[in-house]
Amino acid sequence: MKKYNFNAGPSILPKEVMEATAAACLEFEGSGLSLMETSHRAKNFQPVVDEAVALFKELLNIPEGYAVIFLGGGASLEFCMVPYNFLEKKAAYLNTGVWATKAEKEAKLFGEVVEVASSKDKNFTYIPKNFTIPTDADYFHITTNNTIYGTEILKDYDSPVPMIADMSSDIFSRPIDVSKYGMIYGGAQKNLSMAGVTFCIIKEDLLGKVSRPIPTMLDYRTHVNKGSMFNTPPTVPIYCALQNLKWIKKQGGVEAMEKLAIKRAEIVYGEIDRNKLFVGTAEEDSRSRMNITFVLKPEYQEVGVKGHRDVGGFRASCYNAMTIEGCEALVACMKEFEAKH
Ligand SMILES: *Cc1c(COP(=O)(O)O)cnc(C)c1O
Repeated sequence: MKKYNFNAGPSILPKEVMEATAAACLEFEGSGLSLMETSHRAKNFQPVVDEAVALFKELLNIPEGYAVIFLGGGASLEFCMVPYNFLEKKAAYLNTGVWATKAEKEAKLFGEVVEVASSKDKNFTYIPKNFTIPTDADYFHITTNNTIYGTEILKDYDSPVPMIADMSSDIFSRPIDVSKYGMIYGGAQKNLSMAGVTFCIIKEDLLGKVSRPIPTMLDYRTHVNKGSMFNTPPTVPIYCALQNLKWIKKQGGVEAMEKLAIKRAEIVYGEIDRNKLFVGTAEEDSRSRMNITFVLKPEYQEVGVKGHRDVGGFRASCYNAMTIEGCEALVACMKEFEAKH
C-alpha cells in the first residue's frame, strides 16, 4: 500500500532524492567508498558543499555579501548562537509559537529582550499585526512558519534593524527577498533534507560586532571563514540536501514550489472548510501552506481521534515533496470519514 507522508519533520522527501542519497551511501560516485566513510576533506566531497552553497544562492537569489553555511545542532542551537553573535544590548522578538518562545528564552541569557507582539492569548492561532520594532534593537527575530500551530508569515517584513528568521519549515517554499534579512536559518529536516544539518544564510558585515568573547564553535565567523569545514560537517545530510536542491531546480525553482504549495493548500483547506466534521485551527489570514492544522468540531469530538497535544486534532504537513495526488487522497479520506459519521 502506498503511504502518503504528512509528517511534520523529519518529513517527506522526493523519492529520487532518497534514492540518490541511498546509492551514495553504498558507493559514493564511483569512488569505491561509501559516502559515510568518505572524508569531508576528500577531493570528491568539497564539490558537494560548493554545489549546495551555489544552489542555495541561485534558487533563493541571494545577493552578494551573504554567506551560506552548514552546521550541526539543529535550529535549536541557533536559538542560542543568534544572540551569542548578534545581541549586544537589546533584541526584539515576535512570539508566534513554541519555537519562537524557545528562541526568545535563549536570547534572555544574553541581554534585554523586547517581545514586540505575541499571539499566545489565542493559543498562537494567528500572526500578530501592527507591532512596532524598536529602532535601537540589535536585531528583530521572527519564525516565518509555525510548524505546530499552522500559521505562516508569507511576506518579507520591512524592519528598521537586521531581521533574523527561523525558516526551518518553509524555506524553499516561496521566493523570498533575502536582502531584507540579516540572517535566515533552519533545521533541514522539514523541507530541505534528512535530519542532521542546519543551514544558515548570514549577511557577513553583521558579524564581529558584539563585545563578548564567543567560543570558537559557536562563533559564526569560524564556520564562514572555513566554508563549513572547520570541523567535520554532517556529510550525508549535506549530500541529501544537495540532491533536494537539484530536484527543486529541476521542478522550476522556488516559484514552482510556491505554485504547488498554493494548490495543495487550496485542496486541503477547501475540504476542511466544506466538510461538516472539521474546522481549521488557524485564523484564515494566517494559515500556513506548509502545516495544515484542523480539529473535529466540538459536536463530533466523541469520535475520539487524538492529535497534537498543543493544538489537538490533525496536522497535515504539506512540504515541497507532497504531491497533489497525496492531498487528494487526504481529502478523499476526510470525505469518507464524514460519510461514516
Ligand atoms: C522543528 C523546528 C525547530 C527545531 O528544529 P531542530 O532542528 O529540531 O532543533 C525550530 N523551529 C521551527 C520553526 C521548527 O519547525
